[in-house]
Amino acid sequence: MASIPENISSVRQQINQASQQYGRAPNSVTLLAVSKTQGPEKLQEAYQAGQREFGENYVQEALEKIQAMALPEIVWHFIGPIQANKTRDIAENFHWVESVDRMKIAQRLSSQRPESLGPLNVCIQVNISAEQSKSGIAIDQAQSLCEQVSQLPNLRLRGLMAIPAPSTEPAVQRKAYEPLRELFERLAPQFAHFDTLSIGMSGDYSAAISQGSTIVRVGSAIFGARAPKSSA
Ligand SMILES: *Cc1c(COP(=O)(O)O)cnc(C)c1O
Repeated sequence: MASIPENISSVRQQINQASQQYGRAPNSVTLLAVSKTQGPEKLQEAYQAGQREFGENYVQEALEKIQAMALPEIVWHFIGPIQANKTRDIAENFHWVESVDRMKIAQRLSSQRPESLGPLNVCIQVNISAEQSKSGIAIDQAQSLCEQVSQLPNLRLRGLMAIPAPSTEPAVQRKAYEPLRELFERLAPQFAHFDTLSIGMSGDYSAAISQGSTIVRVGSAIFGARAPKSSA
């Protein structure tokens, strides 16, 4: 099995290749290393290989790593479902939250964000596969949520995030993102800092780059298959 630095380098190569193929500007796609369930030593390896942006799904697990890895330039993105009783920990410890899908959570994050840290970057999670997932706001309600969130003082609305239904077929992968891309292009001119489309995971990031992705969230292609979360 390839090492974490080798995996990062091959993912970066494929990002560059897809960017060229689809006419994207160089360095317009950020690689977010999704490190959920991985121990701090794995994140250290990625950091040594130049990785700076990390994505976490579980608050308690993430806080331990954030405390263990107070390293220069490191940027933490929260990408998991958000429970109301966890918003303070998220607001105080993360730089980005990509999974905001309702106003109640956005309001709590804004009021609990320490002003000394500056605004918390947020993306609205949009549900583009309603049959498969309960997370994310419906696409036809996203604009209204963006308008409300953009008014909150301690949040900076940066864009949209989505998780599609899994497919191994590139044409199907690209098609799934089309409505989101249209929404993103329509909304971007309406907000001051709306520059982020977080789409693409290990199995479909090239397709996502063809649809305008600016953040690809890659876990298993960097760290290997995850051990299933134990339910015991
Ligand atoms: C786990 C996860 C990823 C990464 O998935 P891989 O298929 O391992 O690359 C990306 N985004 C979210 C929201 C996730 O929960």
